[in-house]
Amino acid sequence: MKSTMLSGKTALVTGSTSGIGLGIARALAEEGANIVLNGFGDAQQIEKLYTDMGAEFGVQTAYHNADMSRPEQIEEMMKFATARFGGVDILVNNAGIQHVAPVEEFPVERWDAIIAINLSSAFHTTRLALPAMKQKNWGRVINLASVHGLVASAQKSAYVAAKHGLVGFTKAVALETAQTGVTCNAICPGWVLTPLVQKQVDDRAAREGLSKEAARRALLAEKQPSGEFVTPEELGALAVFFCSPAGAQVRGVAWNMDGGWAAQ
Ligand code: NAD
Repeated sequence: MKSTMLSGKTALVTGSTSGIGLGIARALAEEGANIVLNGFGDAQQIEKLYTDMGAEFGVQTAYHNADMSRPEQIEEMMKFATARFGGVDILVNNAGIQHVAPVEEFPVERWDAIIAINLSSAFHTTRLALPAMKQKNWGRVINLASVHGLVASAQKSAYVAAKHGLVGFTKAVALETAQTGVTCNAICPGWVLTPLVQKQVDDRAAREGLSKEAARRALLAEKQPSGEFVTPEELGALAVFFCSPAGAQVRGVAWNMDGGWAAQ
């Protein structure tokens, strides 16, 4: 039987045209939530994506193309979600980018973009979503941090700084909402084989003269004891748990799902 746990709720997932965001949007739709997708990509493919998702799960879906590095576009997106669905009950701050380089060679423009998209965008969406959540006395803010919100890797200074910042922001919002029906938590994945990581696999294969499969195995062997990728479906199930009644007192956690990465 189809689950209706989140029927009548609206979830906005930033960066959900691909990868983890798409997996989380699908998991929330499967529970009956209406979905606002966001992210970049081919306009026709995106229209098919949200139309098909609506039909598959019997929910209403919409899409807004706000660039998460632009506060004024984020404000437009939040207004759009309110006009279309009467507000955002579940906010998933997922949009993110990566750039790999040593600090002294790190392009200033890439640093600024990573901080804006991976960290500041969550501040903007959250500040705009919280008043209605508090008024309804129900809400879920889920921030896609990373195992890099807990530990560092070389050559990823901007990403590690943004993700540690996002974990800190999660805790502050959790405290400010602690006596309400709104919770705020972070999910900290290890390697997930999405386009963001595929690029790192391809770069490594080219750099070290490896096949793509060997580069994938090398990437996992270095950091992730399980030797297996985490999947968007597994992360979607964790997001659903945060939204369930059993998640009501889970507040301010940075929950790693990382194949053992941070246990080392
Ligand atoms: P992805 O590249 O597959 O998806 C990123 C999404 O963000 C896409 O929909 C893209 O269009 C969107 N996006 C990028 N820049 C944007 C912008 N300026 N405005 C709006 N949307 C934008 O990446 P992913 O691996 O699914 O990553 C999703 C999140 O999970 C990111 O925050 C990432 O840091 C985090 N994460 C990923 C991994 C991993 O191994 N893949 C691990 C830990 C954390």
